[in-house]
Amino acid sequence: MIRDLHEKLVGGEITAVGLTEKYLQAIDTKDGEIGAYLTVLREQALEEAFFVDEQLKRGETIDLLAGIPGAIKDNICIAHVRATAGSKILDNYIAPYDATVIGKIKGRGAVVLGKTNMDEFAMGSSTENSAYQKTKNPVDIGRVPGGSSGGSAAAVAAGEAVWALGSDTGGSIRQPASFCGVVGLKPTYGRVSRRGLIAMASSLDQIGPLGVSVEDVAIVFSRIAGFDKKDATTAPSGNDKPFEEYLTGDIKRLSIGIPTEYFSESLDPRVRAVTDQTLERFKTLGVTVKEISLPHSQYALPVYYIIMPCEVSSNLARFDGIKYGMRVNDIKNSFAHTNGLLETYLDTRRVGFGTEVKRRVMLGTYALSAGYYDAYYLKAQKVRALIKRDFEEAFKQVDLIFSPTTPEPAFRFGEKGDDPLKMYLSDIYTVTANLAGIPAISFPMGTIEEGLPRPPRLGEAGRSESKAGGKALPIGGQLSAKWFDEETLLRAADAFEKSFK
Ligand code: GLN
Repeated sequence: MIRDLHEKLVGGEITAVGLTEKYLQAIDTKDGEIGAYLTVLREQALEEAFFVDEQLKRGETIDLLAGIPGAIKDNICIAHVRATAGSKILDNYIAPYDATVIGKIKGRGAVVLGKTNMDEFAMGSSTENSAYQKTKNPVDIGRVPGGSSGGSAAAVAAGEAVWALGSDTGGSIRQPASFCGVVGLKPTYGRVSRRGLIAMASSLDQIGPLGVSVEDVAIVFSRIAGFDKKDATTAPSGNDKPFEEYLTGDIKRLSIGIPTEYFSESLDPRVRAVTDQTLERFKTLGVTVKEISLPHSQYALPVYYIIMPCEVSSNLARFDGIKYGMRVNDIKNSFAHTNGLLETYLDTRRVGFGTEVKRRVMLGTYALSAGYYDAYYLKAQKVRALIKRDFEEAFKQVDLIFSPTTPEPAFRFGEKGDDPLKMYLSDIYTVTANLAGIPAISFPMGTIEEGLPRPPRLGEAGRSESKAGGKALPIGGQLSAKWFDEETLLRAADAFEKSFK
């Protein structure tokens, strides 16, 4: 889609301002229902588009992403724009600078339409934890879009943005991509700068792109990846050409591993059916499929839900009513009884944070406290090392590893909201990539018909009405690759996608 739009821009068939207006209009007509955006940057977007049109008029060459409108998750800072991270505690927070990724895409002339809704501080799998609004799944508005980057995925799926940026700490790009029938990439840890990303769990967080095709995702990814001297965890890219240029469609000689642990008896038979068809298709493309084992993957979810809250409790300590955002200091509401410093901290956090955030701050503080640190945090870190080692071993045998992205398609609002453990199970296939730091992509692999036992058909993602009359809900396939091997990952997902054309 980006390439087509680019060609139309360059060929003079459309203008960047016209294209941006079209997307702003789509937001006007659809977003009242979908609720993908928290902030729309109308004037700014049109101004960015205007510059691209000026460049074109002068006959300058423009980048593939120039003039193409996208959306940014609200935990990524844009200078002088509100950044709430979905939390009341940052209700009035205006970012003082551009995140590195924003500087990079702006440098290419990309147009930013606005900031998207998300679970508070990226904690959740349905975007229901946003302090502001519900985002609905454009495929079926009775269902959640997934989370925490639910606003970004819904914006792309609803045609309210061409591409979007999200962040992924345990699946927050891939899971909503799976639920909304779009493509989402979590890059290798360290491949994309996180400077200007409001931190959730720093050893797991990564920024990544969402789009309607693998190529679109590759195009955006190429433009945000690379070393940043202001983020000490980033590494030099090492690639000699942009990722979209690796998408040759030829994946013959590649091998894909199927972890036996992920395909147990308990896997939903409908999900299994789509998965099997996907593997068959990969085989017809010349890929060899092999069984592999990730023996420690059974511990991934408990390990994630120890390490992540520990880092959350430490990262969120900065929201104290003094340094950022809102301050609650009027509980006693009289001059004579002005709150002390500690009360200000406590009142601000009590009022500013939502339930899920408080739960995780408490869990993390507990796990890190003296006497428990060794039993929980240190132990979890050791198991994390074993999980990582499983992948090192697996990637000696295969190029890629395949699984469903999520154990089920999008669920209904309220279905898991009251039961955090149920919600956490949504992340069962995604958290391991973050723990190990490897890249992983979710791409639409088929649909599942709600309430109907018949095996789903492939290639139906995005179509909401099935022939049998039920809702056909998209579900994503997940491929993961070796550290810094996004190239193979994108190439394989792209070949799969193209095989339907
Ligand atoms: N759903 C996961 C969680 O609640 C992942 C969140 C994320 O990746 N930001 O922690």
